[in-house]
Amino acid sequence: MLTVGVDVGGTNIKSALIEVGDVKDASSYRISKFVSIPTQASEGRDAVVANIIKSIEHFDWRACDIIAVATAGTVDWDSGEIVYATNTIPNYTGTKLSKILSEHFGKRVVVINDAVSALIAEGFLGAGKRYDSVMMFTIGTGLGASFLTGKTLDSDTIVDTRLGHYVLHDDGRECTCGQKGCAEQYVSATALKRYGNDNLYQLFHTSDIVKKKVLSDYYKDLSKVIARSIELYDPALVVIGGGVIEMSEYWWQNFLKEYKSKCSAPIAPASLGNKAGVLGSVYANINGVFKNQ
Ligand SMILES: [Zn+2]
Repeated sequence: MLTVGVDVGGTNIKSALIEVGDVKDASSYRISKFVSIPTQASEGRDAVVANIIKSIEHFDWRACDIIAVATAGTVDWDSGEIVYATNTIPNYTGTKLSKILSEHFGKRVVVINDAVSALIAEGFLGAGKRYDSVMMFTIGTGLGASFLTGKTLDSDTIVDTRLGHYVLHDDGRECTCGQKGCAEQYVSATALKRYGNDNLYQLFHTSDIVKKKVLSDYYKDLSKVIARSIELYDPALVVIGGGVIEMSEYWWQNFLKEYKSKCSAPIAPASLGNKAGVLGSVYANINGVFKNQ
């Protein structure tokens, strides 16, 4: 089976030609071509939709059995509509993306959220494929936390836990959500970059005592929010993904020492890297149950 998977982020739209043999077997999802073009998010909805179309037309899409899209923004699972998007992509909220793309290409195009897509990829094809339920934290601009409750794939299977806005520190830093002390103000790439290190590689290599304390606080805060997710959801596996995991070789072992002093649930770094978005959308399109797309 020949498929196109697309991953629409705030900066780039990644797309891939993916050949699928056995639909349930991770090793039979083969990416044969992978391209990335600018999203041009600030130009708004029409420019972004045009770029999504361009990213699909980069391949011989007529020869493909399936086209699948993962995108930033809150997406209604059953209809593929963008029900909420921040101002990163002006006017994106309300875009019936699945309908627009299906009409344009004359075939079914399934659209899901990008964090959900990464969770599905890791849960079924990556780090979590041998586990019954998976909690995934995505450490990026913010802190995403979504939970895959089991091994079926429909509107009930995926829970957006919103644990990024779990209050870790009473009366702490102000958050964009209006609360104070939310986890994502401490556990995100944005939070780490506050310490004058736009380059996180330098932070993870620091010998400076103050910055070492920043890192040990970060390991404690991350462990604390994971501990809370285990109390609430009891996942079989916890997966940590997002940009900082690309540098995991510099911090994962130190973090594990802290984590293991608090929690006993199995934990693993995400294993599919920046391919998770395109793979998850294709997997969901083939194996998911959608009412209206
Ligand atoms: Zn918040």
